[in-house]
Amino acid sequence: PTFPARAEVKSTCPYCGTGCGVSVRVDGDRTTVVGDDAHPTNAGRLCVKGSALGETVVPDGRLLYPQIRDANGLLQRHHWDETLDHVATRLTQLIEQHGRESVAWYVSGQLLTEDYYVANKLVKGFVGTANIDTNSRLCMSSAVAGHKRAFGEDIVPVAYDDLERADLIVLVGSNTAWCHPILFQRIVREKERRPDMKLVVIDPRRTATTEMADLHLPLRAGSDVALFNGLLSYLNQHGVIDAAFVEHRTHGSREALAAADASGAQLADVAATCGVDASLIAEFYRLFAIHERVVSCFSMGVNQSSSGTDKVNAIINCHLLTGRIGKPGAGPFSLTGQPNAMGGREVGGLSNMLAAHMELDSPSDRDAVQTFWRSPMIADQPGLKAVDLFDAIDQGRIKAVWIIATNPVVSLPDADKVKRALSRCELVIVSDVIEKTDTTAFAHVLLPALGWGEKDGTVTNSERCISRQRPFVEPLGEARADWWMLSQVAQRWGYAEQFAYRNAAEIFDEHARLSGWRNDGRRYFDISGLAGMDAERYDALQPLRWPQPAHGDAAAQQQAFADGRYFHDDGRARFITTAPRPPVNALSDEYPLALNTGRVRDHWHTMTRTGLAPTLAAHIAEPFVDLHAHDALTCGVADGSLARVTTRWGRLVARVRISGEMPRGTLFVPIHWSAQYASDARVGALVNPFVDPVSGEPEFKHTPARVEPF
Ligand code: SF4
Repeated sequence: PTFPARAEVKSTCPYCGTGCGVSVRVDGDRTTVVGDDAHPTNAGRLCVKGSALGETVVPDGRLLYPQIRDANGLLQRHHWDETLDHVATRLTQLIEQHGRESVAWYVSGQLLTEDYYVANKLVKGFVGTANIDTNSRLCMSSAVAGHKRAFGEDIVPVAYDDLERADLIVLVGSNTAWCHPILFQRIVREKERRPDMKLVVIDPRRTATTEMADLHLPLRAGSDVALFNGLLSYLNQHGVIDAAFVEHRTHGSREALAAADASGAQLADVAATCGVDASLIAEFYRLFAIHERVVSCFSMGVNQSSSGTDKVNAIINCHLLTGRIGKPGAGPFSLTGQPNAMGGREVGGLSNMLAAHMELDSPSDRDAVQTFWRSPMIADQPGLKAVDLFDAIDQGRIKAVWIIATNPVVSLPDADKVKRALSRCELVIVSDVIEKTDTTAFAHVLLPALGWGEKDGTVTNSERCISRQRPFVEPLGEARADWWMLSQVAQRWGYAEQFAYRNAAEIFDEHARLSGWRNDGRRYFDISGLAGMDAERYDALQPLRWPQPAHGDAAAQQQAFADGRYFHDDGRARFITTAPRPPVNALSDEYPLALNTGRVRDHWHTMTRTGLAPTLAAHIAEPFVDLHAHDALTCGVADGSLARVTTRWGRLVARVRISGEMPRGTLFVPIHWSAQYASDARVGALVNPFVDPVSGEPEFKHTPARVEPF
């Protein structure tokens, strides 16, 4: 396509799971990005990251050509055809020698739904392994597992509008002001309009979000289950129960209440476990009890934990007991981190999922997907989850990995092991936008991918809203769509017919048709009403929330669970019995502080994009370690000095910051900086690799550490 100067193109911000609409103008070298007035998510507003998007549409650092590493270890430019022949041949050789479980894909929540769909189709249906996992494993897999346990399907039952209808909003483990800024602005505006609306923030740190709270509970990391079990017990003791809903729409309340009473019947016990004053907890419980319209938003502080799934279910249990779900302004709400918050889940992006919310462990679902794809096989057992997948590479069980749109050498826990694993791997293929990252350094094959502004497709945000990303500049160099590269390899393997896509519209159409395939209302995810669009109608697609079934009233289904029907076989929701358990690694004399990690306001992931924007660098220019003043004194470090942070897994050096935000005994290091932007400040190298046993999500919020002067 050609892009006339000054043409305005509507697209979607590629950063957080809020999913704001943008309006883009290109004039020569200058790209101007403003909020899209017509987008239902943000109505014209953008945060600072979205506003600076134009600064990132630059050629700096781009990977422009396919490259293959030669016998001397040097990357050499090759034609696409040669490179894809090489990829297809080498993968075939390794599969023939070692079996199909010896190859793996590691993809990303940055991918558009169409790219994600093709990757999962290729791997699960045509390679025949489920060894395809995604960096979403590090983000929302605990929420997915919690939804499936409670509802029978991964369904987010709340939409953004519900925040404006709620009388009480609870934010758990979320610095929403920095990590979902436009969503936070919507909350703040509503609070200004209705000062009686209450905001409770549950977070160990004092943050920009807690500044706006009516009540802040600075609970001890990992104690969320004790807090919400205590709430469940309190609600029961005080008769705040929707008895008819519990009796007719749920199962398991008796067992869950017994478990909650065991840990939460006494307020003093909850206060001791959570490390929070009992009066603050009592006030939270009282607020929850008296407000019918409650939305409980939870994010990484809940998910990124060795008990993340139980935390999610402990929150959902409280909504089930009170029947505060399936109604306007009420329900549990997972705030997801990445731009394609839900699109990856739609296509079965995780290694234990199948496309269109079908189940990998269901023979009838596997048959349905295989029949629809006309594939020669289908994976019949869950693949490796992210941390296990890189362990398998390190141990030599996985011989080849194709990494797409993510930077695991920076972002995974125990990241030095990831480095070692990739250095041992026989074949590392990396598709990326940027040429030199900490991960591309290990590539045997580099494939140049389209960047934001060049890509064409859809993303789905945290509230199930499908929104278009549209291209507005010519691709740089020889960059190609991720779905195209994957399809080209499939065609070389003899699957030309099944991967004959000419554009993103055709892939979306297939994805939409699959969602209605043998569905008959068995699955809530159904967008078959969007099938059959030609390229022109697809291009004009306006943002809209799923479900969008071909049959039935889409509008009537927008409030999930409004009909009281859940997606377990008996149509009922499940209470899940939960018991508090501390983080896997306890503090010790050698490592007396708890390392917490997370985002800062103006950077995104490993900075490969936001690092290009001068405006964004101005906020916080370098990595830091934030400490309580008393801990800094004890460790012998001063505000502004350099300190070394050490854990059992690694070490880094960063500048000390005493912000007053940290509780005693804890430290915070941001996730963004890497060897690319600072002398090796990858906090991932310090993070313990322990994961939630159900979801496989790592414990990013609690690693025992020590701090010393550097
Ligand atoms: Fe982009 Fe998120 Fe900011 Fe919206 S809130 S502009 S989606 S980074």
